Amino acid sequence: MTTQATQDVQSVEAQHVLQIYKRANVVFERGEGVRLIDSNGRSYLDFISGVGVVALGHGHARLAAAIADQAKTLIHTSNLFYHPLQAELSAKLATLTGLDRAFFCNSGTEAVEACLKFSRRFWKGSRTKYVAFSHSFHGRTMGSLSVTWDDHYRAPFAPLIPNVVFVDANDPAALSAAVDETTAAVIVEPIQGEGGVRPISLAMAQAISTACAGTGALLIADEIQSGCGRTGTFTYSEQLGLKPDLMSLGKALGAGVPIGAAMFTDRVAAAAAPGDHGSTYGGNLLACRAALVFLDELINGGVLANVKKVGAHFDARLAEFKARHPKVVALRGAGVMRGIDIGEDAGWVVPAALERGLLVNRTSTSVIRLLPPFVITEQHIDEAMGILDEVVR
Ligand SMILES: *Cc1c(COP(=O)(O)O)cnc(C)c1O
Repeated sequence: MTTQATQDVQSVEAQHVLQIYKRANVVFERGEGVRLIDSNGRSYLDFISGVGVVALGHGHARLAAAIADQAKTLIHTSNLFYHPLQAELSAKLATLTGLDRAFFCNSGTEAVEACLKFSRRFWKGSRTKYVAFSHSFHGRTMGSLSVTWDDHYRAPFAPLIPNVVFVDANDPAALSAAVDETTAAVIVEPIQGEGGVRPISLAMAQAISTACAGTGALLIADEIQSGCGRTGTFTYSEQLGLKPDLMSLGKALGAGVPIGAAMFTDRVAAAAAPGDHGSTYGGNLLACRAALVFLDELINGGVLANVKKVGAHFDARLAEFKARHPKVVALRGAGVMRGIDIGEDAGWVVPAALERGLLVNRTSTSVIRLLPPFVITEQHIDEAMGILDEVVR
């Protein structure tokens, strides 16, 4: 695509695409591994991976072949019939999450909606309160938005669903006080992603477990960003000792093909009856096939082991970075989910890094977020940190 063609894309979008995204001034045409190539042939190191989605990198040969094969065989049948791939995928996810059952959908927010609906279904109307956290992000549809903290997202769409209580994510005592016998569920991101890559503390995890055990409130873990291996274990809940009753998965699960999953214990799932919920596309063959390839690469293809290995390298390089740059106030995250808090608006870092061929993004005002594909090498980390060094200096 020429520069003229790039301008054409931008002018047509300006006229016909709903203006809700502030896109960077670049048109991407293809990808190779951890690099994206723009319309002028320039290559960028991708430390966003489509916001935590493209876990196996771009143009992954085995994934591409599986998608092509599935497209030729059967893409979609609806949920009126059986096909072999939901069964296979649900059994694998049950093993990996420790939860019994899956509901398949097409995005993260739909997975959260399913968790919200079935945590209410469980209580048959006797409990409707949700407890959520400061800095939480759970999605953009009306239910998930209702448990999302940031007023910037919420206010234009009020009134949202009632009876949601937000608790300071750094205050375990406040959580204990907020969860009571009217609480249907507590919903938590084990590492808050959009909220600034903030892991909840072990003390908070303990307080959540105790409060849920004491009151019967269900626990929903939103692992859409922190899950599927991004932090070195399949879920970050494992590292915190959290035992959720419901869990939302998405983002990396399809390695780029849209799929979400809500996971349930048998105890919660027992309240669900045919007709309670559904999805036209949810769990179709194409999406399930992609997720099966992703999980096979993750577990049997060495990708999860790679996250652990490069995660340790990330720790070392980030610590050096912090030592060199006094403005860095905190490093947070695990595996290939990292936040560098520079204690001031980090908005300027994003275009400066882009100019030098590195894609990163900014969350929670002051945080540079790094969400590379799971298949990065130590050399990619060195390259990215070298560019950030130049930018932040
Ligand atoms: C991205 C995200 C969502 C929303 O997922 P969509 O696929 O954009 O609907 C929900 N929760 C968390 C923790 C996320 O990171």
